[in-house]
Amino acid sequence: MPFGFDLFVFELFSLQNKYKGFKLIKKSDSPTMMFLIWFFKIITFGKSRFEKYHSLFGKTLFLGEDWDTKMLWVDKVLVIRHEEKHLEQIMSCSFGIFWLGFLIFSLMYLFLPLPAFFTFRGFWFEKEAYQEDMKNCARLNCEFNEKATVEKFLSLDYFYMFTWRKSVEKWFNDESIQT
Ligand SMILES: [Zn+2]
Repeated sequence: MPFGFDLFVFELFSLQNKYKGFKLIKKSDSPTMMFLIWFFKIITFGKSRFEKYHSLFGKTLFLGEDWDTKMLWVDKVLVIRHEEKHLEQIMSCSFGIFWLGFLIFSLMYLFLPLPAFFTFRGFWFEKEAYQEDMKNCARLNCEFNEKATVEKFLSLDYFYMFTWRKSVEKWFNDESIQT
């Protein structure tokens, strides 16, 4: 059995137990996601990497193209735990109704804090989810790729969530010292 497979199954089942209806679908199997992949490619002049990363919509996690080909099972465990954090965040703004929580979460993720439209969007939520990644990397004895994550935050992947390299590097640095 490949390393991490059983842990992945365990984490996925416990997540599905907590959030009934949670499922994984490959982006390539979803016509809507295929449309979005091409739409983002066109509006970003080919720069979008939407086909690469995983996107949570409601209780469905749409998987990027590397899921079956390049990702290790431990990496998949990290993804499940990262998304679990986002699901908890959604529930915390849900007043008991999941989809209302998802709507409020999405609006807050995209637009707060006002009026900073160009930076720090979604940062509160991602900060907590990446703290979870760091914790799990320490637990599973795998290396948290800080450099790649910083680049991700500064890139189109997160719609340029950060504009200042120094501040995002400092944040990751402080966090990894604490973990
Ligand atoms: Zn996230």
